[in-house]
Amino acid sequence: MHYQHHWADGEPITLPSGKAVCVGRNYADHAKELNNPVPSQPLLFIKPFSAMVPLSQTVAARFNQQACHFETELTVLIGESLINASPEQAKQAVAGIGLGLDLTLREVQNQLKQKGHPWELAKAFDGSCPLSSFVKPESVTNIEDSEYRLWVNGELRQHGKTKQMITPIYQLLSYCSQHFSLLPGDVVLTGTPAGVGVLKAGDQLRMQLADVLELETEVSG
Ligand code: ZN
Repeated sequence: MHYQHHWADGEPITLPSGKAVCVGRNYADHAKELNNPVPSQPLLFIKPFSAMVPLSQTVAARFNQQACHFETELTVLIGESLINASPEQAKQAVAGIGLGLDLTLREVQNQLKQKGHPWELAKAFDGSCPLSSFVKPESVTNIEDSEYRLWVNGELRQHGKTKQMITPIYQLLSYCSQHFSLLPGDVVLTGTPAGVGVLKAGDQLRMQLADVLELETEVSG
């Protein structure tokens, strides 16, 4: 399947689609719900382009017979290359803001963690990175103090407040760029708040970012 970034009005974004850089445990309440310690540095991992699918289509409940768990995350679209960038440079390079799901095979991840193995089998599989459309960063009043929500079948399950991030957005982009070049069209998923859970076929998901983005999607079997 071919994935391409889109603006909220449906126009394709003239940027290539690259990798997704993700951060684990960037909200203390989520680290706590999974009994994980809060890391002293951001805990980074990558999903490849083949993981990306549009959130506007159905989201898969299972992959290889394993249940997918949802993690709703504020997602930043990179517009200019960032290599060893400062937080201020990172701010200037943001092309878009949206929402993403960091789909996770939690049981596989727990097994990998126990063995001290990398997380890719649990985090980087095909379809593991459903992405919304994006809005221009200037349309969000203050991205460092904004809120986003996920409802499952009408019930509020996740409520993220970006000011509660352990590593705030621009510092996080700066940190990522010390380790991986962030290239135009890459996205950064900035971590999930508490409330993660398992997806079931037929679930109706509604997601909202401040007052600038709202979408609904269904979970397929
Ligand atoms: Zn995540």
